[in-house]
Parts: sequence; structure tokens; C-alpha cells
Amino acid sequence: MTVFGISDRGAVRRSNQDSFQFRTDEKEQLAAAVLCDGMGGARSGEIASSIAAETFLSAAWEDMTQQPDTDLADVGRESAAYANLKVFDRAYRDPVCQGMGTTLVAVLVRGDSAVIVNIGDSRGYWLADGHIQQVTRDHSHVQELVDQGFITPTEARSHPRKNLITRAVGLEKRMFSDIFRLDLRPGDRILLCSDGLSNLVTEEELSEALSGIPEPEACCRKLLQTALDRGAPDNVTILVLDR
Ligand code: MG
Repeated sequence: MTVFGISDRGAVRRSNQDSFQFRTDEKEQLAAAVLCDGMGGARSGEIASSIAAETFLSAAWEDMTQQPDTDLADVGRESAAYANLKVFDRAYRDPVCQGMGTTLVAVLVRGDSAVIVNIGDSRGYWLADGHIQQVTRDHSHVQELVDQGFITPTEARSHPRKNLITRAVGLEKRMFSDIFRLDLRPGDRILLCSDGLSNLVTEEELSEALSGIPEPEACCRKLLQTALDRGAPDNVTILVLDR
């Protein structure tokens, strides 16, 4: 299992409010990766995304390594709920952090089993047999407009209200995550990314990079460069995991 992640503040923003973390254990065939895109005034978006990523990963990793029989879906759900509570608590106690929140997308892998956990509009994609599939469904206003047939997915990428998300970590005491189960095969690849990438590239371009570039690091760098070449108005974070 190989994982590589990269994060860049982009060409316009003065700070990077995205965070990511990952861990792998080759011997036990375990991997966990998380990516968060924070929002909030001053530095609070950065604080929200780093608390969420750190809390999620340490909680999930502890469960995966110390309780090897637990269902990955439960691990993902509970770790996300715990991350939510930590961000909510900090926002509640610290006036500087009031109203902060973050997206969270994560993948947990044990052998051939994987789950993707999602809250917000960061994305998880799955490449299997050369075919790419968006696993997560954005919790966003524009996704609802797409679902209702008012706009197309292409129009959604440049919609003026595309930043409006309908679920985020840290805004309420309880927050539910979507959980997707995947059966991985050798050669499969998972991509996690923030909207700073997905708003700038098409699914075809993602597929081309993921299926055409063997090394996760080279793949991440190529996609980041594409985002930068297109003006990267937002922070860009990309993580590739190879089964
Ligand atoms: Mg973003």
C-alpha cells in the first residue's frame, strides 16, 4: 500500500486552510488517510481542519490497530463523530474560533476492505480497472440543484454559490457522516481531494492522471500543476492511495 499527499495554498489565497494526514502499516495491510478543508474567519479554518484531521486519524488508527475485528464502517463513523465534537467544542470555548467548521473526507483500508467517510464537499474517487467513479456525494447547495435537475454538474463547478455546504464538521454537536463500503483489488487507487482541485478539473482529466501515472507522488504533482496552471483560486489538496 502506498500513499502520497500534497497540499498547496494555490495562487490567490494567503493561507492554506486545508489539512491532510495518513498512516500505513504494510505488515498488517492497514492504511488510513483523511483530508479536511476548513472554513472560518482569521486563522480558524486552519484550526478546524487540523483538529479534525488529527482527531479523526488518531482515533481511527487506534481502533484499527488495537481492535482488529471492529467494522471499518463503525470506526469511520465514530472517528468522524469524535472529530466533530472536538471542533465543535473548540469553536464553543474559543471566541476566535466561533462559527468555524471543516469538511472531512477519509479512507480506511484493511486488506481488501475499505470505507470512505464523508461530510461536506471534499471528494473521494475510486479508480478500478481503469474506470473512475466519484464515491462521495457533495453535501452542498449546488449538488441539491443538480439532483433537482436545475443545473448540470458542469455548471455546478463554476456556480456562484458552489461554496455553500449543507453539512460540515464542527457546526453542530451531532453531525452525521456518509459511509461507503468498497471491495478493493490490487491495482485499485483512491483519490481524496479538496474542492480546490475538483472545481478545476473534469472527471475525464482525473481519470487520465490516475490511470496514466503509476506513482502516487507523480500523480499528485501532475494534478496540482494542472490546478495551478488554471489559476488555483482556492487551496488545493490531493491524496492518492494505492492498494
Ligand atoms: Mg476549498
